[in-house]
Amino acid sequence: MATSRDYMNLEDQYGAHNYKPMPVVLSEGEGAWVTDVEGKRYLDMLSAYSALNFGHRHPKLVAAMKDQLDRLTLTSRAFFSDKLGLWYKALTDLCELDMAIPMNTGAEAVETAIKIVRKWGYQHKKVPKDQAEILVCEQNFHGRTISIISFSTEPEYKEDFGPLTPGFRSIPYGDADALEAAITPNTVGFLVEPIQGEGGVNVPPEGYLQRAREICDRNNVLLMVDEIQTGLGRTGRNFCYQHDGIKPDVLILGKALGGGLYPISAVVTKEEVLSLFQPGQHGSTFGGNPLACAVSLEAMRILQEEKLAERAASMGDQLQSHLRSLSSPVLQDIRGKGLLIGVEIKSSVSKAKPYGLALVEEGILCKETQEHTLRFAPSLLMTQEDLDWALPKISRVLTSTPAQLREYKASSHAA
Ligand SMILES: *Cc1c(COP(=O)(O)O)cnc(C)c1O
Repeated sequence: MATSRDYMNLEDQYGAHNYKPMPVVLSEGEGAWVTDVEGKRYLDMLSAYSALNFGHRHPKLVAAMKDQLDRLTLTSRAFFSDKLGLWYKALTDLCELDMAIPMNTGAEAVETAIKIVRKWGYQHKKVPKDQAEILVCEQNFHGRTISIISFSTEPEYKEDFGPLTPGFRSIPYGDADALEAAITPNTVGFLVEPIQGEGGVNVPPEGYLQRAREICDRNNVLLMVDEIQTGLGRTGRNFCYQHDGIKPDVLILGKALGGGLYPISAVVTKEEVLSLFQPGQHGSTFGGNPLACAVSLEAMRILQEEKLAERAASMGDQLQSHLRSLSSPVLQDIRGKGLLIGVEIKSSVSKAKPYGLALVEEGILCKETQEHTLRFAPSLLMTQEDLDWALPKISRVLTSTPAQLREYKASSHAA
């Protein structure tokens, strides 16, 4: 019988090494929990970077997908389907915006947003040909395509991948004055994450998006909010920008939009923006297929019926206040909103990785983002019982010094 080691070796030998996974080989998942090939159970507190807001294999999502599998899976956009219109309606209602366009992955949705915002710049703002500029933030993460990595500030994301795409400029995150100062007559959009997930769970100052909204309005610049990671209940509201009482001009969604069963992403905007696309100017063979729409419709229904944003707010409060109450020699900072939480380890003490590995030993899956921060993003359907089970284990790990961690790991191995 194959062991974890065998599967890891297989991936290692034949797969590109563009990830460095934790040493766990998963084969089953249900709700907030997963099981590895040796039968060990783990509470999944990463949730595929927020793609699994609804947990693994939510019964209603599985039922919706099976039902659609028995009807129709793909039409291409050469024809209408009986699902796409319903999906547009549900999504634009949920977002309180006017129009949407479906894609498959997050990066594709970001690319789509960039294209349409540039077009808006030329047609509405009368920016001279090929001069449109989009402002982005330092430490951003918006995906991995050539154009998107062109405006990353992370050297390893772009090294040796040039030539890069022009038309972007980065400004410090969380600094509304820097935004105001950077805008020129050619600025067409400001692309921002309400919380920078990959960047280290960076939470901007209170009211940042509100100020960004005012500045964009005053300067006729589109506010483009990437909620691929923060959206659909994760931070305690359906969308993280709602904490600031604003609405974006361009909203970008992905990850949990397909319930973790099937990839679907979207750009949702006010009418003036997406109405600029004419036939032939953009597309995707699989974008908006009936299978994706059926799963996504059910995901949006669950989000609202099971009040997932409220759950994220209350569970997140508990987890965050527990973390803050720890008296630990290694913790630098606890930050986040709802169930998107970053735990920063003092850089003078240790990287985050050994703490992530110790949590895995304890049966809790989470992973570092940036060198010194652990990201906690469990399923929004994690139960109180799950959380109560996890808290003492998390406490034990996060109050250990690196030396204690080494011994502690040895002792838990022995146990
Ligand atoms: C994950 C993510 C993306 C990219 O999504 P993919 O589906 O991996 O292409 C873009 N923006 C943010 C904020 C993300 O978290």
